[in-house]
Amino acid sequence: MNKQFIQSNADLSAYSTYEIGGKAKYLAAPTTIEELTSVLEFAKEKELKPFWFGMGSNILFPDEPKEDMIFISLKELKETHIDEKGWFVSAGMPMSHLSLIGLASGTADFDFCFLLPGTVGAGIYMNAKYYNRQICDILDTAFYIDLNDPEFKVQTIHVDGCGYSYKNSIFMNNDWIIVGAYLKHPDFNALEQGIREVERLEQVVEYRNPSVLPNFYKYYTAMAETWAQDHEAEVPESFKSVIQDRGSKFHFDYPSCGSVFKNNYDFGEPMGKVVDRLNMRGTVHGGASISSWHGNMIVNQGNAKAEDIVHLVEQVKKSVNEAFDFIPEEELIIVEKK
Ligand SMILES: Cc1cc2nc3c(=O)[nH]c(=O)nc-3n(C[C@H](O)[C@H](O)[C@H](O)COP(=O)(O)OP(=O)(O)OC[C@H]3O[C@@H](n4cnc5c(N)ncnc54)[C@H](O)[C@@H]3O)c2cc1C
Repeated sequence: MNKQFIQSNADLSAYSTYEIGGKAKYLAAPTTIEELTSVLEFAKEKELKPFWFGMGSNILFPDEPKEDMIFISLKELKETHIDEKGWFVSAGMPMSHLSLIGLASGTADFDFCFLLPGTVGAGIYMNAKYYNRQICDILDTAFYIDLNDPEFKVQTIHVDGCGYSYKNSIFMNNDWIIVGAYLKHPDFNALEQGIREVERLEQVVEYRNPSVLPNFYKYYTAMAETWAQDHEAEVPESFKSVIQDRGSKFHFDYPSCGSVFKNNYDFGEPMGKVVDRLNMRGTVHGGASISSWHGNMIVNQGNAKAEDIVHLVEQVKKSVNEAFDFIPEEELIIVEKK
């Protein structure tokens, strides 16, 4: 193997906000679409099963990954530019970056992405949301590679064709790797300046692996504060309220993947409340526990194994089914083990 961007025996725990996962026989982190295509060709040639992902903030990697899998991290694909057709953002760009570009270009359209862990590609994949705003509100056109296309050509799909609903999309039913997107913006002149301004901030604020949640929190709050200081302005109230909301639920204090289950709107109560009714907050198994602050989060207390998290996921499903007669659907993606 001579491709610099394919590593062997890479520790998957460094690629997931759960900080859980064993050694992957193959892990690739392409920095361009050409490199990604060459990884896919390598996988095809070696008959490896690709698993593609972003920041790992919604994934539980196994303690013993399958040896015939190649894990493809897209978080190094993080380029953005404006061309004659629109504003292009690569799939690995952190969603939180969009909130800063919005801040620096004078629009609140991307405020909901502030401190929303994960990448633009994954946000498009699962229609990431924060309260009443979701990624499909800002998407114009997605660019993707269909793994069933022997040439791995980049194809496009307009937002109207993406079948979006609550945490659901066409991408979740297809072997499509999103490589980037055109996003909507109300003012392209201001956007150009905003992109330059965020590039300047990137030179000033120290960047660390965003798959470690305290790093992620510190980096994006520092970016917003530095912007405010440099412009003799205040951090916007909408950003402050995200800090308050996520801080009060201790989102960045323990390794986790945020909400484990999707809400069941037919039942009429969010999953956090459903788990609370069963008094399951604080339930511990091995190194994992149901968060003491939010019933729909299962956290790694420091030395959890994937099995510990899976055990608690199954325990919640069983208890909810017995008490309320429905099986909650996981939002967390659990990758199969050996
Ligand atoms: C503390 C915390 C709070 C959170 N709060 C929220 C919240 O408020 N709202 C919310 O919606 N989510 C929330 N999440 C979950 C997470 O932010 C989202 O699920 C996000 O979209 C995951 O992005 P990622 O890059 O980490 O994806 P990953 O975890 O790396 O991947 C998740 C899934 O997306 C697929 N995927 C990733 N990239 C691509 C791509 N380019 N093309 C196709 N498929 C892809 C992967 O195959 C996988 O199935 C939270 C997570 C944490 C840790």
